[in-house]
Amino acid sequence: MTRREEEKLVKAVGTRSANALAKLGLETVGDLLSHYPRRYAEPGQLTDIARLEVGEHATVMARVEHATVRTMRARQGALLEATITDGQQRLSLTFFAKGKGALFMFEKRLQPGVTGLFSGTVGEYRGTRQLAHPDFVLMGEQDLDSDEALLEHASKPIPIYPASSTISSWKIQQAVRVVLDPLTDDDVADPLPVEVRARVGLPGRLAALRMVHRPDHLGAVRTGQHRLRFEEAFVLQAALAQRRARAAQQDATARPLRAPGQAGLLTDFDTSLPFELTEGQRAVGAEISAELASPRPMQRLLQGEVGSGKTVVALRAMLQVVDAGGQAALLAPTEVLAAQHVRTLRTLLGPLAEGGLLGGAEHGTRVALLTGSLGAAARKSALLEAASGQAGIVVGTHALLSEHVQFADLGLVVVDEQHRFGVEQRDALRAKGRVAPHLLVMTATPIPRTVAMTVFGDLETSALTQVPAGRAGVTTVRVPAANVRWMDRTWERVREEVGKGQRAYVVCPRIHPDDAAPADDAGDFEAGYDDTVPAGPGGGPGAGEPDRAPLRAVLEVADELRERPQLTGLEVGVLHGQMAPADKDAAMARFASGEAPVLVSTTVVEVGVDVPEATVMVIFDADRFGISQLHQLRGRVGRGAAAGLCLLVSDAEDGSPAAARLDAMTRTTDGFELANLDLELRREGDVLGAAQSGRSSSLRLLRVVQDADLIEQARKEAGGIVATDPDLAGVPELAAAIRAQLDEEQEEFLERA
Ligand code: ADP
Ligand code: MG
Repeated sequence: MTRREEEKLVKAVGTRSANALAKLGLETVGDLLSHYPRRYAEPGQLTDIARLEVGEHATVMARVEHATVRTMRARQGALLEATITDGQQRLSLTFFAKGKGALFMFEKRLQPGVTGLFSGTVGEYRGTRQLAHPDFVLMGEQDLDSDEALLEHASKPIPIYPASSTISSWKIQQAVRVVLDPLTDDDVADPLPVEVRARVGLPGRLAALRMVHRPDHLGAVRTGQHRLRFEEAFVLQAALAQRRARAAQQDATARPLRAPGQAGLLTDFDTSLPFELTEGQRAVGAEISAELASPRPMQRLLQGEVGSGKTVVALRAMLQVVDAGGQAALLAPTEVLAAQHVRTLRTLLGPLAEGGLLGGAEHGTRVALLTGSLGAAARKSALLEAASGQAGIVVGTHALLSEHVQFADLGLVVVDEQHRFGVEQRDALRAKGRVAPHLLVMTATPIPRTVAMTVFGDLETSALTQVPAGRAGVTTVRVPAANVRWMDRTWERVREEVGKGQRAYVVCPRIHPDDAAPADDAGDFEAGYDDTVPAGPGGGPGAGEPDRAPLRAVLEVADELRERPQLTGLEVGVLHGQMAPADKDAAMARFASGEAPVLVSTTVVEVGVDVPEATVMVIFDADRFGISQLHQLRGRVGRGAAAGLCLLVSDAEDGSPAAARLDAMTRTTDGFELANLDLELRREGDVLGAAQSGRSSSLRLLRVVQDADLIEQARKEAGGIVATDPDLAGVPELAAAIRAQLDEEQEEFLERA
C-alpha cells in the first residue's frame, strides 16, 4: 500500500509546480511536507530590511510607499519604480517592460500603504538596495490560480519557505496547502509509537505538520516543531540503538588477560613503561580489558583531550589481544601518523617487537606497516605477516580497509584520531574477521556530548580528560603578521628554544607560493584527508576576499627562514602531503632527532604527531584555521616537561570574528570549552558534516547543541523500544523511517565516493 505521502508531486500539484519544486529537490508529497518554513512573518510585523544581505534570495514582508511608471529616456521601454519599507529602511523595486501596459497593472496593485510579501535576489544599485523584478503577493489579493487569498488571515503567522528564483515562498505555501489539506492520519506514517507520544506529550505527525505549515499562532509552530524535532532525534537514536543491539548479538572471540604471573607482552610492556599510567588511563584500560574478555564485540569510543595519552591505552589493549592469540589492527588517518605509530610501538616494545627474530623476546610479536604507497616488496611481506599471523599488530591507513588484506585472526581494530571515520567504514571493518573484531575508536577532538550521541551513537563512550602530570602546558599568543618587531622576536624565540635542545614547528596553509588558493592537498594521503586548509566555513572565513595578502606557503616560508639572521646555521626541514612517503618519513625523523630542529609544514602534523621535544609552534595565517584544528595543532607542543609556546600569526583585525577565534585560543587550552565555542561559531551542518557527513540532511530541524535535552530523552525512549523489540516488528512505521534514513545516507555516501 502506498500512502499519499509517497505519491509523486506531479499528481498532486501539476507539472508546472512539480517541476519548480523538483529544483528544490522535492519529488514526493512527503518531501514537500518535510520542506519546513524557515521562519514566519506575522502580519503587521515587517521584515527588518537592514538585515538583508546583497546576493541573498529574500522574502520580505513590507509596506508599499509609492510606485510610478515612466518611459525610459536612454533606452527603449518602460520602467516601474517602487519603494517598499519596513517603517525604517527602504528597499527599491524595479520592473522593466517593453510597453507601459503591463506595468500599469503592477502600479495599480502596488497602492501606497498596502503590505505584502516581496521575493527576489537582493541587489545594489548606486548604494541603494533593490529587488529587480521581484515576485510579490499583496495582502487581501486573490490568488489567480486558486481563487484563494494567500495572505488573508490577518491574524495568522505566514510561513516563509526556503525558496528560489524559480518558485516563491507563497507558491510553495500554496502547493503545501494543496497536498496537506485533504490528508487524514492514515495518509501519513508516524514513526513515533503512540505510547512514546503519550509519555512525552507530543501531537501526532499530521497534526504537527499542520501546526508547522498552517499555524494559527506561533505557539502552535513551536509545538509542531518540537514534535518534529523529537521525531528526527528519535528515528536517529532508534537506528543507532538497533545498530548497537545487532552488534551486541554478534559473536566475538573473548580475549581475556593472561593469568597473573604468566608472562606476556602486556606485563613486559607495563614493566618497561617509562612512566606511571594516569588514573584515567588505568580506569579506561580496565573497562576496555573487561570488554575484550567478553565473547561480544566491544564497541567503544575513547574521547581524549589532546596529549592525554590515548596511544598507550590503545597499545595495551592491542597487547592483551595479541597475548590471547589474536591480532590487532591500528588505523591512522595519515601515512605520517601510521609511520609514527609503528616507530612508537617498536620503540616501546623493544625486543618484544622482534618476535621470531634472533634476539627477539620469546613471546614477542611483530609490528607491520601497511599503507597505500608501500613498495611492492614491502607490501608483499606486510601482507604475508598479516595473513600468517606473524604480525600481531598491523598499522595502516585506510588501505587496511579498502584492500584485500587478510588477517589470520583479527581480534581488535583500533581507529586512531578519526572523528571522520563514518558508520560505513565501521561496518566494513566489523565485517573483516570471521567473527566480529572488538572495536576501539579514538577521537582526537573532544566533542560535545550530544554530538557524540548523534555521530557515534552506536558506540559506548569513555573519556580521558587528564593529561599526564608534569606537563608545563602551552602559552598562546596572537602575533600581528605586519609587525616586524614581533616577527623578529618570534624567530628569536624559536632560536632560543632550539638552543635549549628543543624543536619548532612552523605551519602554513599552502604548499606552493603560486597555488592560487589553499588547494586540496590530498596528495598521497588517503581520500578525504587534506593537509591544507579547506576554503569552506570549517576552515575559517571563506577564501577569496580580494584585498588580503596571499596565504603563506610552506616552500616560500622555508626559504625565507633559511635566510633569517635569527635562524642562521639551523637546519630547516619541510613536510607536506605532496612529498613521497619516504621523504616524509625522513623529514619527520630528522625533525624528531633534532638534526633539522625547525620543521615547516602543512597541517599534515595536525593530528597525533608526537615529538616530545617540540616546544614552539608558529602558525601562519592562523585565522584561516578552525578552532578545533588550531587546538589539534597546538597539541603538538608542550608534550614534554618543558613549557610550550604557540604563536598565532595573523593579520585579522581586532574585533573581527577571526580575531575572536584566535583570542579564544589564547584564553583556554580546554578542548571541551573550545569545542563548544566552535559549535557556537559554526553552522550545525558543518559540525556534523565534518564529523560524519550524511547525517546533516536527515536532521532538518534538530539542533545538536540547543536540543541536547531532547536528544537525551529521544535516546532513552528509542533505547527502550529497541530493547524490548529489537527488530521493531511492532512498530513498522519506525522501521520504515529508519530504512528511509539509511537509504538517504547511503545515497549521499555513494555520491561522495
Ligand atoms: P594523544 O592522546 O594526544 O594521542 P599520546 O598518546 O600521543 O596522546 O601521548 C602523548 C605523550 O604523552 C606521548 O609522548 C606519551 O608517551 C606520553 N604519555 C602517555 N601517557 C603518559 C603518562 N601516564 N605519563 C607521562 N607521559 C605519558
Ligand atoms: Mg594520539
